[in-house]
Amino acid sequence: MNNLLADADICVKCGLCLPHCPTYTQTQNENESPRGRIALIQAWAGRHLDTSKKLIEHIDNCLLCRSCERVCPAVVPYGRLINNFREQIREERDATLSVSLLKTVSHNKTAARLAQSGLRLYQTTRLQKMARSLNLPGLLRLDKIDRLLPDYHEPTALAPHYPATTEVRGNVGLFIGCMGALLDHQTVNAAIKVLTAAGFNVSVPERQGCCGALALHDGDKATYDRLAATNCSAFADNNLDAIVTIASGCGSEMQAYQQAEFAEKVMDISQFLIKSGGNLSEQLLPLTASVCLHTPCSLKNVMREEQGALKLLQQIPAMKISPLPATVQCCGSAGSYMLDHPQMADALLDELLTAALTPPPEYLLSSNIGCALHISAGFRKRGITLEVLHPITLIARQLK
Ligand code: SF4
Ligand code: SF4
Repeated sequence: MNNLLADADICVKCGLCLPHCPTYTQTQNENESPRGRIALIQAWAGRHLDTSKKLIEHIDNCLLCRSCERVCPAVVPYGRLINNFREQIREERDATLSVSLLKTVSHNKTAARLAQSGLRLYQTTRLQKMARSLNLPGLLRLDKIDRLLPDYHEPTALAPHYPATTEVRGNVGLFIGCMGALLDHQTVNAAIKVLTAAGFNVSVPERQGCCGALALHDGDKATYDRLAATNCSAFADNNLDAIVTIASGCGSEMQAYQQAEFAEKVMDISQFLIKSGGNLSEQLLPLTASVCLHTPCSLKNVMREEQGALKLLQQIPAMKISPLPATVQCCGSAGSYMLDHPQMADALLDELLTAALTPPPEYLLSSNIGCALHISAGFRKRGITLEVLHPITLIARQLK
């Protein structure tokens, strides 16, 4: 309670964060704003407000996009405040089947392996088509997860080490993340290809697991701590110059691990390649195409590494890059948010898709798997065929 009050009391109620908050912009409701949520937590922690369904709903409606934190002049640690509040009221919150399933698959490797086999069967036979025609995903309340599934790609078995394919410039660890391991093999393979081509020996520790973001945002600090400890021990090799991530949602959480030795090495892959000073342009084929660049909130507001992807992509000759306008807010994916807040998630996504399609690009690039899945599903729903890729996948495709 004291920690909650200490963090909430930093807010001077200036309201500068309000226009940057997606849920406030959509609702114009103070309770759905950062200032309003801080005031609610302050009142609750000061015992002026009871725990109620309504109170929990207002806090749960927050995307944890942390746009408010980025612009706050008083530097309110908003993310920490919300996570701590959710930990305190964990018992009072209900989880949907989709979110529970997502967490089980993310946190348990046996469940992830079963999910992988299940997906192969579901997506490579007529099962998915039949299930959809009978509305089975809807009846089982798994339709939101079903809509997010990308086309099935057979996973490639990963080696623990990949040597640099050019003059050696250093050693890095590659963090794959639970969703990368399950649904994003092409980004994983692309990251290995680009890093080794840039002169880095790449380690992919087998023991790594989920970053813990889903658990932390759900108020499950014990699971988050366990997952953080597993990752720290998996990447304990002192020779690593950096631990690079291919999903900014994971990277932003891992930069906040208490184990500073690990946290300080975490970097987004594009930012790492730019910061390491290498230039891939001589190794890249030109691409006559226009791409729309989406910058995930976790990359922009938490990691503050938003320039990396743009600078890296600028190394592809002839390609036209259009970042999304600054007025476009969070895409609505926000970890498991898109599963249990579909209305808000879809409203935010609609605005992003409209901006992205003006004019329509050949590719949309995003550095976070959750955003990429959500945006892809949005295009499919609109009947639009447009590839949504991680920037590193496009770089890998253009390597000579
Ligand atoms: S969170 Fe920061 S920006 Fe928002 S009202 Fe409080 S002090 Fe102002
Ligand atoms: S984290 Fe995002 S959604 Fe939540 S209050 Fe801040 S700006 Fe609004």
